Amino acid sequence: MSVIYDRVALIGLGLIASSMFWAIKRAGLAREVTGYARSAETRVIAREIGLCDRVCDSAAEAADGADLVVLCVPVGAMGAVAAEIAPKLMPGATLTDVGSVKRAVIDAVKPHVPPMVHFIPAHPLAGTEQSGPRSGFAELFDNRFCIVVPQKGTPEDEVQRLERFWQGLGSFTERMEVDHHDLVLAVTSHTPHLIAYTMVGVADDLRRVTDSEVVRYSAAGFRDFTRIAASDPTMWRDVFLNNKAATLEILGRFTEELFALQRAIRRGDGEHLHAYFTRTREIRRGIIEAGQDTDAPNFGRHPEKAR
Ligand code: NAP
Repeated sequence: MSVIYDRVALIGLGLIASSMFWAIKRAGLAREVTGYARSAETRVIAREIGLCDRVCDSAAEAADGADLVVLCVPVGAMGAVAAEIAPKLMPGATLTDVGSVKRAVIDAVKPHVPPMVHFIPAHPLAGTEQSGPRSGFAELFDNRFCIVVPQKGTPEDEVQRLERFWQGLGSFTERMEVDHHDLVLAVTSHTPHLIAYTMVGVADDLRRVTDSEVVRYSAAGFRDFTRIAASDPTMWRDVFLNNKAATLEILGRFTEELFALQRAIRRGDGEHLHAYFTRTREIRRGIIEAGQDTDAPNFGRHPEKAR
């Protein structure tokens, strides 16, 4: 793979930015990568572990002279960071982000983008429940999708350049319209997270009754909820505050389905339950066939470790 952008600036140095850095280095996609994180503590760690060729003490300094600037901060912080770096953005540079929500980020960032800068929002569909500068790894984006949300008037070759960059990081790229993105993600990511948070909260309340049983017998499905519910609280708070309409819409549908299943259980309607579970099993099969998860039992976890 050859250099796609001479200098890339990563603003925010958590899971996504650190994974991007290691993947950029793996494929040689940039000559220099600068980075900035808000806290001095994160900047010290970044320097210690060699995360970025140059760690800067301000976002503006990191963005200065970069061909590609990537906003890797929580969704709610994107606007303020864009305002701070705007005067340093080079004419012809591309500004992108990795935010999990697109409409709110575009509304917050766009007003600050200078006329000669190409703003191309994007969202890599890859992550773990870990966060911070030490949590990244080069393979995070391999065989995952990165959704690109081009804005009207952006030159096609600049959109394709960003797509080549994400492909170089290991991803498949796909273009999507902004509101469609937010709705799709409300179904596939945002609402499932909220359900996991709720289930873990309910079990925690129950723990008072059942002592440590919730923890001891967690392998029976609950453990996978706890992994999701361990995700970064700031990031997820911002996701829900910024994708209100779509998550509320999907939560409404979820509640209706839940009531229908509740009624089937109460009425002893096994046919309804069986048909429903057969349909959902097919969805899992589709995900495996699309290469988006393993078909090994229990996600390929070793039985010893699974306990
Ligand atoms: P993270 O590991 O928590 O890192 C966030 C980074 O942003 C940290 O370096 C943090 O600095 C900095 N930051 C936090 N608040 C800030 C503020 N107000 N101003 C300036 N910098 C700030 O987060 P992440 O998982 O990499 O997520 C980053 C972005 O990627 C988010 O927009 C998220 O929606 C998106 N995303 C996440 C995932 C995922 O699964 N994690 C997947 C796809 C997209 P300090 O270290 O100094 O606090």
